[in-house]
Amino acid sequence: MKVTSHILDFEGGREGLSEPLSVYLHVPFCRSKCPYCSFASSVPRLGDVDLYLSALESELIGLSRLSGGPLSVRTLYIGGGTPTVLSVEEWIRLMDLLDRYIDRGSIEEFSVEANPESLSDGHLRFWRDRGISRISIGVQSLDDDELRWLGRLHDSNEARRAVIASVASGFDVSGDLMFGLKGQTLRKWHRSLKALAELGVGHMSLYQLTLDNDSFWGKKPPEGVFDGYGHYRWAQWYLPKIGFDQYEIASFALEGRWSLHNLAYWNRENVLGLGPGAWGYLNGLRYENDPSLAGYCDSVRSSGFAAVYSERIGGVAEASESAILALRTKWGIDLDDFCRRFGSGSKARLLKCLSEIPDNCLEWKKGSVALTRKGMRVANSIWERLLWEE
Ligand code: SF4
Repeated sequence: MKVTSHILDFEGGREGLSEPLSVYLHVPFCRSKCPYCSFASSVPRLGDVDLYLSALESELIGLSRLSGGPLSVRTLYIGGGTPTVLSVEEWIRLMDLLDRYIDRGSIEEFSVEANPESLSDGHLRFWRDRGISRISIGVQSLDDDELRWLGRLHDSNEARRAVIASVASGFDVSGDLMFGLKGQTLRKWHRSLKALAELGVGHMSLYQLTLDNDSFWGKKPPEGVFDGYGHYRWAQWYLPKIGFDQYEIASFALEGRWSLHNLAYWNRENVLGLGPGAWGYLNGLRYENDPSLAGYCDSVRSSGFAAVYSERIGGVAEASESAILALRTKWGIDLDDFCRRFGSGSKARLLKCLSEIPDNCLEWKKGSVALTRKGMRVANSIWERLLWEE
């Protein structure tokens, strides 16, 4: 369904804009398209960045009108795509734009994503000067064969340089790594994990390679992709030994160095999505912006908004989604809080579903329940039981 006008207004998302909230801003450009990726991103043509920045300004104007002033932000995350495809000059324009419509007085975390081949010292200097606190780097692997096979533009030396320079510049640094890659033995996987930790990151996000249907590999799968259960299990065993606590299914961090922005998603807090293809969630309303740059620009120019899809999450679906998101984290579900928000009927239903899950997948504490490491490994089969219909 094409949603053309003030969706956040008439569907009640507006109230969600009044308190400090989390903001995700999507930069829809990459230097090339990786074969496994179906994110909203493309190689920018001449003039695309100008179009994008002026459309973003229209979107911010529309939202600040709706909220009655600058948007107050608690966490801000600029992701992509590849935000470091923007030059420092383009970053200056982007940040000036954000500072006109966003009030950073209550900000607790300001993150950006970077790819090793396009992260420059100029980016690091500019980000430090403008209050960015955290960089998430798309390392993916520290093995050159794996990086080549993935079609990435960087090699392991560039990845190392990017992490070392970011750490040395005083940022809180996270690195992404992927498993399930062709030829990736456990030994190679261990080497990437160990090397990334030794470079000084405080956080790692680990992903199984998945071939999105809309990606090149989704249509023409390569040989050599495998189920990475064993690799994931290895990370769960190894990383806590060197101080990285698993605080979410895909996330490991040194003490307290969690991603506050990602915690907002798992806690089902309001997240405003800006830019092409961005998802947002405001007071029960989930929406997606038009993923094409042209469609996004047209929409915001004509109406100030770009949502092409929205759904209202309530009732049983909301309870189910909250339970699943909370179980992704090590803190799990606070049962009294769940009962307060969704009623005793939903709590009883939850307890019944959980009683059918093997004991070694769940850890019951006083007033809460969370997944064990084993539970995190088989989480998909647990979600199937928790996906409730009315
Ligand atoms: S995986 Fe990342 S770098 Fe590769 S095309 Fe997708 S968004 Fe761009």
